[in-house]
Amino acid sequence: KERTLAMVKPDALSRLGDILETIHAANLIVIKAKMTTLTLSQASDFYMEHQSKPFFSNLVQFMSSGPVVAMELMGDEAIGAWRRLLGPTDSATARQEAQGSVRARFGTDGTQNAGHGSDSVASAAREVEFFFPSTAGH
Ligand code: ATP
Repeated sequence: KERTLAMVKPDALSRLGDILETIHAANLIVIKAKMTTLTLSQASDFYMEHQSKPFFSNLVQFMSSGPVVAMELMGDEAIGAWRRLLGPTDSATARQEAQGSVRARFGTDGTQNAGHGSDSVASAAREVEFFFPSTAGH
């Protein structure tokens, strides 16, 4: 079993129920969940790897524009499974190429794309720790 960090972005918060149904139907289990509104600083930290990209400012503004729901998911190949369920990054591309995907159904455009999923075991570990810090050893 693998773990991943899934996030429902502000543009899709009202579709949380639909997204939970999608997660459930794919045999992924929600281990932890938290609703929070990120500050600009927290959104910048979360998307640190993109800080030099032209879309960074729009991205962190959007990500701190309203509540998000972060979830730790567990299941077989959870990282790849959740990213396949999300579909392509750009919601318009998702509507063309991955019609049933979360981004096709609930995303808006290239930045406001309904959801996030970790892209590797290492980023899953970092992102789960970001939202659900472990206190073990302290
Ligand atoms: P995420 O990391 O959120 O799961 P992803 O892995 O599909 O998405 P990344 O390349 O990591 O995409 O980009 C992170 C986020 O930055 C995207 O989900 C999207 O919100 C935004 N983004 C990425 N590329 C663009 C772009 N060309 N124009 C505008 N926004 C973008």
